[in-house]
Amino acid sequence: MEKKTFFCSYALIGKDLNLKDNVFFEVNKGIITKIESGHDLKKSADVIFENALLLPDYVNSHIHITDSVAKDCAYGQSLAETVGPKGIKFKEIRKNNSFIETCVEYTFQNLILHGVGTFINFQEGGHPLLQRVISVNKKFLLKGIHLGREKNNWDTLLTIADGLGISTPFGYTDDELARLASVAKKNKKIIGTHVAEDPDIVKKSIETFKKTDLERALDLLKADILVHLTNVTSEEITLIPKDKFLVLCPRSNAFFGLGFPPLADIIEHNFKFGFGTDNIMTTNVDIIEEARYALYQLRVQKKLIDIKTLIKALTVYPAEFLKLNSGWLDTGRDASFIVYDLRHPNFQCSKNLLTSVIFRGKPQSINSHYIQGTKQKIQ
Ligand SMILES: [Zn+2]
Repeated sequence: MEKKTFFCSYALIGKDLNLKDNVFFEVNKGIITKIESGHDLKKSADVIFENALLLPDYVNSHIHITDSVAKDCAYGQSLAETVGPKGIKFKEIRKNNSFIETCVEYTFQNLILHGVGTFINFQEGGHPLLQRVISVNKKFLLKGIHLGREKNNWDTLLTIADGLGISTPFGYTDDELARLASVAKKNKKIIGTHVAEDPDIVKKSIETFKKTDLERALDLLKADILVHLTNVTSEEITLIPKDKFLVLCPRSNAFFGLGFPPLADIIEHNFKFGFGTDNIMTTNVDIIEEARYALYQLRVQKKLIDIKTLIKALTVYPAEFLKLNSGWLDTGRDASFIVYDLRHPNFQCSKNLLTSVIFRGKPQSINSHYIQGTKQKIQ
């Protein structure tokens, strides 16, 4: 796509997501080359979004793409019964092996219609399964950051993976964790791991290794992305270096009855964090619903969270960590955005557009999704 111009009645602009009105964008080869606001340049635009709100598309910071082959067959089961090595997930993936590409493709379509332009995938099944997922991903502009795992041959895996996605440090000896850290570092790849998701694992880790799995993730694995943190204390949060990216999956934690992550502490200590919807087999990919659920849970704790911080956790913060050229809208950055139709009954009479994004943002109110200047099919 060559040059194209857009006009939108409202847009969230820049890294601070400033709400501007009458916003005109010029886009060339998928990159924003000009932004003007405050005056009506509607007539000179190729694409006009009247009575609409345009904002950067979302990042779903933690997902397991291939367990989408087994939706909703694990309600009431424990974490281990569902996603453990002998759990439902792996049985279903084996049983439905020939449907994996189809289910992954449905999931990519579903992410796009929920306004997601980038996702971080924790991919089980080693090199062969990761290769199959990457092949499907190539049909889409949707950006996948694929973190894989393997029994051996980590170097080979990292020729196609963006990094390592470890199920839990508890599954590895100290030497193995140190080896994983050095393999990732040598290949200049990132490491993500689930941490402190299950209180039993935290307890067993202390009994076996005299350290929590958070300590082992930091000291030995040298993980960059810490997923869950559901069962860490307020004090342990302060021990985490600020360059780590923390990913919270509160609906998944609730599904398995494992608690609620210390989000208020994470925000208070100014960590960069994101949200993930985790296992597709148990939790839908609606990332706005994830943020909304977190907000309600904080209100149960009588805590207030700034709405803009929540939207940044879905856009700016993961983009900064992943060094994406999307995640906020500015000249020189990707034209990757969604547009909420404010004429949709869901948004009519809103007195605060940012607050409405979190409380009322639904895929059916998204009338357009562009990735790098290209309109995505969302119907
Ligand atoms: Zn996970």
